[in-house]
Amino acid sequence: LVLGIAACGGGGDDNGGGTPASASSGAKVKGKIGVILPDTKSSDRWATADEPLLKAAFQAAGIDYDIQNAQGDATQMQTIADQMITNGVTVLMITNLDSGSGKAIEDKAKGQGVATIDYDRLTLGGSAQYYVSFDNVAVGKLQGEGLVKCLTDAKAQKPIIAELNGSPTDNNATLFKQGYDSVLKPKYDDGSFVKGPDQSVPKWDNQQAGTIFEQMLTQQPNIGGVLAANDGLGQAALAILAKNGLNGKVPVTGQDATTPALQNILAGDQCMSVYKAVKKEADAAAALAISLAKGDKGDAPQTIHDPEGNRDVPSVLLQPVAIYKDNVKDVLADGYVTKAQLCTGK
Ligand code: BGC
Repeated sequence: LVLGIAACGGGGDDNGGGTPASASSGAKVKGKIGVILPDTKSSDRWATADEPLLKAAFQAAGIDYDIQNAQGDATQMQTIADQMITNGVTVLMITNLDSGSGKAIEDKAKGQGVATIDYDRLTLGGSAQYYVSFDNVAVGKLQGEGLVKCLTDAKAQKPIIAELNGSPTDNNATLFKQGYDSVLKPKYDDGSFVKGPDQSVPKWDNQQAGTIFEQMLTQQPNIGGVLAANDGLGQAALAILAKNGLNGKVPVTGQDATTPALQNILAGDQCMSVYKAVKKEADAAAALAISLAKGDKGDAPQTIHDPEGNRDVPSVLLQPVAIYKDNVKDVLADGYVTKAQLCTGK
């Protein structure tokens, strides 16, 4: 795939993929960190960004680590956690598949003297010492504002909006929706937008998202804008829109600045995405994990309220950035996606 865009023109350096994975700085830090990521299908990020970036951070610090992926299976995550504890991890970091199973893992770890960190998703009612993520309500606001901007630019008249929400068991999906609904609801209320179908996608399953969106479009062929909670869901909706000759006519949002989404933005088919600098998230989480492994107190400047556990969890909450056609280059400049990936799709 060659895109006829400036970013893909000749010259200029490929700015590479972030931190080099080699770095052993003499003395080994004591302790061992276990990380369990949620799946590889709900978003490209877990395998292409989080895993290599966490690995690089642990290697640079010279600490032992074990990073695994639960492949969307909560029982599997529990099994991996048990194995990691048996194998001597002193800190366990998880991105839960649902708060119930996350809490079970964290409580068990705690019982064995293993500290835990919530990575990206807060475990409601859990016992993690820290939470590292983005301001996820802000992510949702950027998506809502993005859809408003693209519909306004297109001079859409009273567009019917479809909402494709993330997994009902992911607290982030709740926060994203809180953010975008805070922007969309006033538009529904004043009649400038019309509220259309609104559905959650179990496990953020991209295939199921396609099925759900196809049904939405069959029942409501005049959908004029799609609030898709991440790029995977957005791609699923775009594929159905394309099948109906509507791609590029109906703005679709996203999240994660994945390579296919950036390509769709440049091609004019996707309205926007939300870039979350995963390197900063991985580095912050690794730093906290290492401080826990050393028995130190880490630096977590914010807190997030866990309504189920009725406690404030010390947190690092980073700022997301909206990505449109004109600032796709910022994602390249940050080294999150390379020019080669963007221009060749590889
Ligand atoms: C993450 C998103 C991701 C989604 C699906 C959310 O919890 O914050 O970045 O797209 O899960 O994996």
